[in-house]
Amino acid sequence: MQELKILYLYPDMLELYGDYGNIQVLKYRMEQRNISCKIDQYSINDEAPDFSSYDIVFAGGGADNEQSILADDLVKYKDNIKKAVQNGVFFLLICGAYQLFGKYYKGVEGNIIPGLEVFPYYTEAIADRKKRCIGNIVLEVELQNGKKTQVIGFENHGGQTFEGMAPFGKVLFGNGNSFGDTHEGFFIGNVIATYLHGPLLSKNPEVADYIIKYCLERKYKENIELQSLDDEFENKCREQLLKKLLK
Ligand code: GLN
Repeated sequence: MQELKILYLYPDMLELYGDYGNIQVLKYRMEQRNISCKIDQYSINDEAPDFSSYDIVFAGGGADNEQSILADDLVKYKDNIKKAVQNGVFFLLICGAYQLFGKYYKGVEGNIIPGLEVFPYYTEAIADRKKRCIGNIVLEVELQNGKKTQVIGFENHGGQTFEGMAPFGKVLFGNGNSFGDTHEGFFIGNVIATYLHGPLLSKNPEVADYIIKYCLERKYKENIELQSLDDEFENKCREQLLKKLLK
């Protein structure tokens, strides 16, 4: 039986707007196809994980306060994480985690939270605490082979992210990396870092399957055609949202 292993970082601190749903969706879509899914969790004071021994590393969003508490812990694993990214482990990073993997995060009071510096972008919060990018968001994303898909989510961030260079998608509705931006997130083959809560994967099964296919092909070194699943309800929900948001 094929198996994929997920490492879930700081579940007690980074879990906004149902981000855990992303893991549930991955697990569900794997098990429907008889692929076993093993999930380990890591939080502060736990034994150091070997990031390269996992197929997927996931971390969700969090408030500035949680981000500043866990940043010191996360930075300890900088080299280990860099190596895992280079080895092709898949990283799915939502909002606060997206920010923490960049150069730094400058909070509302001008305080600097150090980033992992694994990716080239940096994030600065707007000084006015009330000004945040909040609401539904739709992106046009090219996952692979030039095929474009619409990715739907919900954003809520004061942080404005710059110089990502490799965006996840083009903004069709909503803000993106900063107020009124044309682009959102950071995407290289084995990394999706994005502001999209939702949870992202429940609203976008195609993205979930992209991750599963990528990880199976990497691990088992063969072409994988994923068995298609019944996504009738997901598709109906998407149709309604796209009709409402892109009218
Ligand atoms: N603290 C960050 C911000 O407000 C991230 C928030 C989040 O993860 N939703 O920009």
